[in-house]
Amino acid sequence: MGTVNYLDSHAHLFCDAFEEDFEEMIARAEEKGVRLLNIMCTEVQEAERAMAYAEKNPDRITVSCGIFPTDVNELDEVTREAFYRVMKDERCTCIGEIGLDYYWEKDEAMRAKQRELFIEQIELANTLHKPVCVHSRDAMQDTFDILKEHRCHGLMHSFSGSAEMGREFVKLGYYLSLGGPVTFKNARHSREVVSDMDISYLLSETDSPYMAPEPVRGTRNEPSNIPYIVAKMAECRGMETEQLAERIEANWHRFLELK
Ligand SMILES: [Zn+2]
Repeated sequence: MGTVNYLDSHAHLFCDAFEEDFEEMIARAEEKGVRLLNIMCTEVQEAERAMAYAEKNPDRITVSCGIFPTDVNELDEVTREAFYRVMKDERCTCIGEIGLDYYWEKDEAMRAKQRELFIEQIELANTLHKPVCVHSRDAMQDTFDILKEHRCHGLMHSFSGSAEMGREFVKLGYYLSLGGPVTFKNARHSREVVSDMDISYLLSETDSPYMAPEPVRGTRNEPSNIPYIVAKMAECRGMETEQLAERIEANWHRFLELK
């Protein structure tokens, strides 16, 4: 077997949490074989820094930028334009995280604004031929309905739906990315998703600095923790960890290539 390249499809590496020890964090990831990193950016300035960094290694390090659903509340035209300029930049590979968050937004009028912004960004992604990273919290049915009507090439980040819902997304061609929760004792449904789904659509993520997996749950999460997650997924599938990591790597390359 060749070198394993683990994937972290969702890591906020240019947020404040890694300011102090960015290089060490990257070195720890490298040491564990976590070399495919998709850096998530929810702010324009963050994206500028991430794109400059990713330029050195575009085969392994990709950048994703999008307007986070709850940020629609304070979105002015200048900020929107700045975001769209980044999204159009060729060093920005994916559009996201975009989607719906009804956990933090209870107001129906604002939820409608989130749906509008989500659709607008999907359409931009399609125009640019870029994949999308979807955030969906307490809004699974509306997310599904939008992605069914406004088809795009995308992944469901930190997928938290049922195995049945997972199958419905995969049927439409969407990938499912899972992270720390698959290792949590109380998240049996996440493991069901992993064992049940078409393995060709499975991706791995940390959501660093959040959602650290067992056995480091509750600490600052970072990409070097990916092997814990993939090991648990492999256990669900009755596979060797490295064998699954290879499948996930192939899935990721296919995800990025499909236009
Ligand atoms: Zn995120």
